[in-house]
Amino acid sequence: MVQHAAILGGGMGGMLAAFAVAPHAESVTVVEQDSFTADPVPRRGAPQARHTHALVSAGARAIEALVPGVLAELYAAGAQHLNMPGRYLGLTSRGWFPRYQGRQFLVGASRSLLESTLRGRLRELPNVTIAGRSEVVGLRGDPAGITGVRTRSPDTGRPAELAANLVIDVTGRRSRATNWLTELGFPPVRQSIVDPGIFYVTAVFQAPPEAVPDFPAITVQSSPGPDNPVRRNGTLVPIERDQWMITLSGGPGSRPSTDPDGFHDFAARLPHPVLADLIAAATPLCQPFGFRADANRRRHFDRLSPAPHGFAVLGDAYATFNPIYGHGMSAAALSALAVRTQLARRELDTRALQRAITQASANAWDMAAGQDQRHAGAASGRIEAFFDRLGEWISAAGAHSRAIADTQVDIFNLIAPPSSLLSPRVLWHAARAGAGPARQTPPFTAAEARVLGSRQR
Ligand SMILES: Cc1cc2nc3c(=O)[nH]c(=O)nc-3n(C[C@H](O)[C@H](O)[C@H](O)COP(=O)(O)OP(=O)(O)OC[C@H]3O[C@@H](n4cnc5c(N)ncnc54)[C@H](O)[C@@H]3O)c2cc1C
Repeated sequence: MVQHAAILGGGMGGMLAAFAVAPHAESVTVVEQDSFTADPVPRRGAPQARHTHALVSAGARAIEALVPGVLAELYAAGAQHLNMPGRYLGLTSRGWFPRYQGRQFLVGASRSLLESTLRGRLRELPNVTIAGRSEVVGLRGDPAGITGVRTRSPDTGRPAELAANLVIDVTGRRSRATNWLTELGFPPVRQSIVDPGIFYVTAVFQAPPEAVPDFPAITVQSSPGPDNPVRRNGTLVPIERDQWMITLSGGPGSRPSTDPDGFHDFAARLPHPVLADLIAAATPLCQPFGFRADANRRRHFDRLSPAPHGFAVLGDAYATFNPIYGHGMSAAALSALAVRTQLARRELDTRALQRAITQASANAWDMAAGQDQRHAGAASGRIEAFFDRLGEWISAAGAHSRAIADTQVDIFNLIAPPSSLLSPRVLWHAARAGAGPARQTPPFTAAEARVLGSRQR
């Protein structure tokens, strides 16, 4: 049993970790440098929160398992249930993805709404204390184990200490956990990095009246591959208050602009101009704003020897993913759920805890790092080239086979590993389906197409 757990960071992962640990601990303290209000406003500690934050099925279900009833609460507050691929149109290198009522879904909501809803629920847990305006500056302990954290007030600079027999670092992309551990005599933590150099620009729009209430999410992506050095993507996600979040992203040499005209022009130069047409039809609510997204980076705390007893790392502090895949929050949610399962199973075993976190985020890592490596041409051996061509052929067959399309959707939603696209069952369906051309125009309904009017190609 955990006597006292300290959760470092009160962002998405930190709150979910607190929900996971609370049933198995006498008390939990969430230590967050920002003020911890339940108002849906962007915070200094999570600058990425202004950008599109879609939640894929596996993450949404994990959050619901940790916080029962939260999805209904989000939908009541205006979050959108986006059936995949029924309310999701995707243009890939092979044409438009087929549209039908599927088994998976995205939750379309602003990150502020997601956070504030979870914050409200976290405040209801009787054994959880929230310590806002408290910055973690180090750990207490030695190589035999971690016994707590050192903090300081960002307002007065006053130092303090907090004893805990379980400390989980969830301080996000800028986590200093590796430094904190080396300060106590642990060896440096090794890391894996795959950097696609993506730049992100987002703008929020009021949807035109004829587009609500069921307008679909739309993604237009350029085809990845070493032959295609210019990488461009665009995504529209309907969120609460009949708003659209539109995010454009590009790699080196192809950066979207934060100037409104440049933003529109970039969308018009995507492999299909539908997003530019929708931008023209909608009302902008802000200037476009940018973000240089981090690399895919995984810090191998699970391989640290000796293992820091009483300490684990979760969320972006453990692994960050190229945001174009939209998996960071879901990987954190799946990891938090794995922590809850692990704590229910046995005495506190932090090595097992860290391994469970690694496993829970493996699908997200394999997808993001694998795709980005492939795009950079890093995997250019003959065997990799063969599997690339095989993957292309199977994906093309997805336009004509529901079984393959379902598998692709499951992979995107972190329900199945990327390797399931090469399973014998999928190969069998691919051989039967063939690989004819996919649809070249967006599969809009007549009512949806009217939003574009004469602008649609
Ligand atoms: C541009 C962009 C778009 C994204 N889009 C998506 C998406 O569509 N879908 C998706 O699932 N994910 C997306 N992500 C990823 C997502 O933002 C993260 O995976 C998620 O926020 C991880 O949660 P976290 O709690 O680990 O980190 P964060 O949410 O960043 O929270 C870290 C918290 O720790 C606090 N903190 C930091 N240092 C200290 C300290 N020393 N002491 C105390 N507190 C501290 C911070 O204030 C913050 O509250 C996107 C990321 C980016 C950059």
